[in-house]
Amino acid sequence: MRRTDRAVTDQERVRQLLEECRVCRLGLWDGQEVYIVPMNYGYTFESGRLTLYFHCAQEGRKLDILAQRLAVSFELDQCGAYTGQGDVPCGYGCHFASIMGTGTVRFAKTPGEKIAGLKHIMRHVSGREFSFTEEMVQGVAVFSVEASAYSCKEKA
Ligand SMILES: Cc1cc2nc3c(=O)[nH]c(=O)nc-3n(C[C@H](O)[C@H](O)[C@H](O)COP(=O)(O)OP(=O)(O)OC[C@H]3O[C@@H](n4cnc5c(N)ncnc54)[C@H](O)[C@@H]3O)c2cc1C
Repeated sequence: MRRTDRAVTDQERVRQLLEECRVCRLGLWDGQEVYIVPMNYGYTFESGRLTLYFHCAQEGRKLDILAQRLAVSFELDQCGAYTGQGDVPCGYGCHFASIMGTGTVRFAKTPGEKIAGLKHIMRHVSGREFSFTEEMVQGVAVFSVEASAYSCKEKA
């Protein structure tokens, strides 16, 4: 990171951002073009180890791409108020905080694995604990991305 003064190394701040962000953008490479898809997510963050959880329908473009290549990039952010005033454009900007990284997708195979992933997602989305039956999870795909690397940057 060129602006190392903006690098966030405080794990509690990283956790706070994971909790407060609502959308994770996944970047996938289909061999010809980059496909970016925004998704809601759940997460676990233990001892610096970050895993993101997603759910979706069982077909579609991202799953077609993931069938070929499981490597993804991801990005989450908060964009605060625009700052600056006056007639000089480069005096304008915005407060932001973001996390970017790379990882590998792993699909939940069993109903139990799907339920575990969905619980992480619902915990993040609602702040509540939900129960699922095997029947409820039959029609959805659930996958996780374990981050092989990530960075966090903030312009306060
Ligand atoms: C804030 C937010 C949160 C979301 N959370 C989830 C989630 O948790 N789970 C989930 O499954 N989906 C979520 N979506 C929808 C998601 O972005 C995709 O539309 C959806 O997952 C289908 O993806 P796909 O690759 O199967 O697309 P397909 O249905 O196969 O469609 C492929 C094409 O449709 C267009 N397209 C697909 N998605 C979008 C989009 N979001 N905006 C504009 N054009 C699009 C593109 O041209 C793309 O090439 C969310 C979207 C937003 C904006």
